[in-house]
Amino acid sequence: MIDPAAVLRELVAIDSTSAKSNLPVLDVLERHVSGLGFATRRQAWTDPAGVRKANLIAQRGGEQGGLALVGHTDCVPFDPDWAGALRPSLEDGKLYGRGAADTKAFLAAMLSAASRTQAAPLQLVFTADEEVGCLGAHKLVEEGVLRPRHAVVGEPTRMIPVIGHKGYCLAEITVHGEEGHSAFPETGASAILAAGRMLREIERIGDELRAEADPLFGPPHTTLNVGLIAGGKAKNIIPGLCKLTVEWRPLPSQDARRTLGLLEDGCKRISSDRIRVEVAPLRLDAGVLVPADSEIVAFLQARAGNAPATIPFGTELPYLVQLGAQACVFGPGDIRVAHRTGEFVPLAELSRAAEILTAAVDRFAIIVNIPYLAPEEEQKDHQPRDQAELDRVDRQLPVVSDDPGGGAVELLPSLREADVSGGHIEHLRRAEPAKNEGFLAVGDIFLAEASHPAADGGAHVPNPQH
Ligand SMILES: [Zn+2]
Repeated sequence: MIDPAAVLRELVAIDSTSAKSNLPVLDVLERHVSGLGFATRRQAWTDPAGVRKANLIAQRGGEQGGLALVGHTDCVPFDPDWAGALRPSLEDGKLYGRGAADTKAFLAAMLSAASRTQAAPLQLVFTADEEVGCLGAHKLVEEGVLRPRHAVVGEPTRMIPVIGHKGYCLAEITVHGEEGHSAFPETGASAILAAGRMLREIERIGDELRAEADPLFGPPHTTLNVGLIAGGKAKNIIPGLCKLTVEWRPLPSQDARRTLGLLEDGCKRISSDRIRVEVAPLRLDAGVLVPADSEIVAFLQARAGNAPATIPFGTELPYLVQLGAQACVFGPGDIRVAHRTGEFVPLAELSRAAEILTAAVDRFAIIVNIPYLAPEEEQKDHQPRDQAELDRVDRQLPVVSDDPGGGAVELLPSLREADVSGGHIEHLRRAEPAKNEGFLAVGDIFLAEASHPAADGGAHVPNPQH
């Protein structure tokens, strides 16, 4: 069994600042996952600065279905005066170092969870360049091979299942005027004065966006900022050029292009025969909001004891959603200490994360998906949400009760009345015959014989205490 604290120390000691290659940290991760029997592959590229980068995809049971645990391998830069950035140290139960929280703690918890259970299909996905624009996750979507049914994206969320965040968009507005001698205004057209009119347009757009609120987010509307402005050559030249850098963080309910459209309209209003204003989008990452009652969210909420929430920073969540996964963001550590000197993760939280991820692997790294019930609903019957899917996989049935002594075993739909000692049980064959002979456990997978029809509805209750 992998000790998450030991692995975390090993990972923190490797400098994986986004500007550097992440291959050294992947080498260490690959050594661990190969030791656990995972098959691995790398998706590699060279970034614009000529640095080699790669995603590492490790899997047990294939890259389709089941559960993916996803963590980024890169870190933000550290202050050169921080002697402990790459020398992990333990103090008051907290492990300090760059990346200790964001997101190497999650990587260590992933490895530890994968070492504690054999459940499959399970994918461990280690991405590159999250901190500089989720470039690795983007490559996974471009490739489209990884298709998990469920996914947990690791970030320091203080063990809160995070269901959404705003998007991130960036554009450059260029105002073209005409240069001239400042003593003769009619010889030119001031790009800076026109940029001033454009700024008033941007303020007005900000007010318009304020009216479209979503109380799940703070602030509850799309925010807009002009962070940079540059223009003019000298005090006595009518400026011919002025540039504005505009950033906005759209609500998930808003198309990332909506604000861009408003900016384009503003540009047209300012343009005249001697002034030309244009906007060029540099980045258009949409926001994301996943259902708060999805199974993976409900599971993490019940295990961690924290209600789902949204966060004010971007993650790789939208990319996992694009890959078709029911996903959310979750992990040990606090983002508020993450990007600064003295970053740390409490070790108690790290080991708790490893335990919860182990339970998540047992619960979701299965071939058939069983609706998860909140504890108060445990005893009630429950119809499968996706009957068509259960029908498709009718030969592959996980046992979900962990009460072998009780005799009655909860099985998937048509087998729910089955008894260990007779009846329908003879139609089942254990997928891994050598495993726990004569003993049933959560996550065991049985294959039903052909004679048995599947799925006529029924109750299946994973035991959250297991
Ligand atoms: Zn992060």
